Amino acid sequence: MPAPYPWLSPLWNRLQSMRQRLPHSVLLAGPQGVGKLELAQAWAKSLLCEKPSPEGEACGQCEGCHWFEAGTHPDFKHLTLIEKENREGEVKLATEISVEQAREAVEFVQLSTYRAGRRLVLVEPAEALNTASANALLKVLEEPPINTVFVLISHQPRQLLPTILSRCHKLEVGLPSREDSRKWLKAQGLDETLLDWAGGAPLTALADREEGQQEIRAEILKALSQGNSLDAVSLAENWYRRLPARLWHRISYRWLLDLLASSLGGDVRFNPDFSKELARLGKQVKRAGLLDLAQEDMKAGRWVEHPLNRQQVLEAWLTSYRQVF
Ligand SMILES: [Zn+2]
Repeated sequence: MPAPYPWLSPLWNRLQSMRQRLPHSVLLAGPQGVGKLELAQAWAKSLLCEKPSPEGEACGQCEGCHWFEAGTHPDFKHLTLIEKENREGEVKLATEISVEQAREAVEFVQLSTYRAGRRLVLVEPAEALNTASANALLKVLEEPPINTVFVLISHQPRQLLPTILSRCHKLEVGLPSREDSRKWLKAQGLDETLLDWAGGAPLTALADREEGQQEIRAEILKALSQGNSLDAVSLAENWYRRLPARLWHRISYRWLLDLLASSLGGDVRFNPDFSKELARLGKQVKRAGLLDLAQEDMKAGRWVEHPLNRQQVLEAWLTSYRQVF
């Protein structure tokens, strides 16, 4: 198997060139939606393959490959965010990798390897390690057992402890070029206009498309384009149940940023398909009010996640929005 995505080929080759002298820990750092996880998994699979090709690619046939594909390879551990039940009985994805998980990984690397070969621990995303779990892992990162490789993935490497960073061989996984992304999206039957909304990350563009984000976004932006004539009450009533809070926040906040840019005569960044509407609204908007609303939005971030009175919160936001015109 070659690189999981065409734009990852140079990095894939670099990882393969490390096979003979494996670093103890590798950090794949870069924005979301560029394929870091797939790259790490493909590399792990190729390192655990029992009959790799001369180029180091996994055979896909051996027992190691079968186990890896089934997610049951005994020499592979994936340390990631897991779902947990909270006090209200709701199952939610944890926001941190716990110290218990980190300790399990430490025990795992201290066992002898099942296949008497290499062993891999994938930590993803590494910024989800809290102080306790990072410190637990540090012990083995400092003096890793033989034939053990840690692969850390981070979307925000600046948030990692310096002691962790300094132990890792860092590889940057940047955004692909516009041309590479465009070609790839086209091959998936997608339009490149999705890329702006996805911040240039092709896999985010694909996921957005699959979630139907573009339809929701278009509906919201059409309403927000009405400026001070939108109907806050009926929109809040219509949206509050079916709009995931994070998505609403992403859409509304980016709209405000574009509106701000447009009012200053700049280029819109996230919603170029609405540039006509943004140009019109940009001339009418009171910038101080808009700034206040954007700042509040940034600070409050997740307020809409509050399950109670979400409708009122949304309605209040829409009313404030009307008033900036
Ligand atoms: Zn194999």
